[in-house]
Amino acid sequence: MIPGDGIGPEVMDGVKKVFLAAGVPVDFEEVPVTSANFSPDVCCDAITSIKRNLVAIKGNIETDVDRLDFDQKSANVTLRTSLDLFANVIKVKSVPGVKTRHDNIDIRLIRENTEGEYSNLEHEGVPGVVESLKIITAESSLRIARFAFEYAQRNNRKKVTAVHKANIMKLGDGLFLECCREVAKDFPDIEFNDMIIDNTTMQLVSNPWQFDVMVMPNLYGNIVGNVCCGLVGGPGIVAGANIGNKYRVFETATRNTGKSIAGWNIANPAAMLFSSALMLKYVGLHKYASLINHAVVDTLQVDKIHTPDLGGSNQTSEVVDAVCQKVEKQAFKVRYD
Ligand code: ADP
Ligand code: MG
Repeated sequence: MIPGDGIGPEVMDGVKKVFLAAGVPVDFEEVPVTSANFSPDVCCDAITSIKRNLVAIKGNIETDVDRLDFDQKSANVTLRTSLDLFANVIKVKSVPGVKTRHDNIDIRLIRENTEGEYSNLEHEGVPGVVESLKIITAESSLRIARFAFEYAQRNNRKKVTAVHKANIMKLGDGLFLECCREVAKDFPDIEFNDMIIDNTTMQLVSNPWQFDVMVMPNLYGNIVGNVCCGLVGGPGIVAGANIGNKYRVFETATRNTGKSIAGWNIANPAAMLFSSALMLKYVGLHKYASLINHAVVDTLQVDKIHTPDLGGSNQTSEVVDAVCQKVEKQAFKVRYD
């Protein structure tokens, strides 16, 4: 467990309380990586811990926009690339009881998680001229495309949409698109289409139901992912997973630090709780995963215990307490089933 900065420690506290109430047979090894203590040593400890445990749950680590020294690379990016967590998957599903403009949205967004605009290759060759390199490789593009189609197949999804800007970035995004088309040929039962990124964002806010599984390069995934989360209620209720061949790191979909609301007991813990349920499902503790999932949905949908981001006036701890009460009541069934 890497609680991270901002609201990370508060919402992780909620995860720990809920696991305790449910009697989940998981012990956390806590590794406090924050923007304040981040160093190569601390990073190495975190990576070693994840390599040992194979799976982690993580809050966001703040990256200071105003620090320009190049050693201050994003700790989050460093962790993801060091562990080769090449796919980011976010589960964008409307939660009944959470009021939004559109109902019944059910999208899976799959984002290339290691290269593209996040390659950290920038230089100022002459003053006033900066080059930022966006790296697109056939290897990573084929890998993420295959991941998306296999994901669609495994989860009974019908369609994959590749998102790109190949009309302008003909070589880079062109390669990405070509790789998606290539992989699509191996999956004749799954419909494939592609859409340019600008149109995609417009289509998402006007007709989001046309989308099923979406796959895209890193930065587009970041932006489109945030649009998707906004559609179903914001950063407080959507979970995400970073997936590699060996390791998985679970976090919230929009990876926010929430610095401005930290310490006020108003952050929505639902996203991290959903994320913890994804983690439990992955490690084979399916019953505990669904116990926690149902308890969170019930708290939002039936009890309408909503934090301010959802228009309510409840506190983080009230959501956590309600979820704890529900899982506690049901936990014996899971244990002795
Ligand atoms: P900040 O710049 O304050 O760190 P972020 O960029 O991390 O904020 O988050 C974007 C917005 O989403 C902020 O308004 C933040 O308060 C909000 N937010 C992020 N996570 C949550 C959450 N779990 N519950 C409620 N609001 C959240
Ligand atoms: Mg932020």
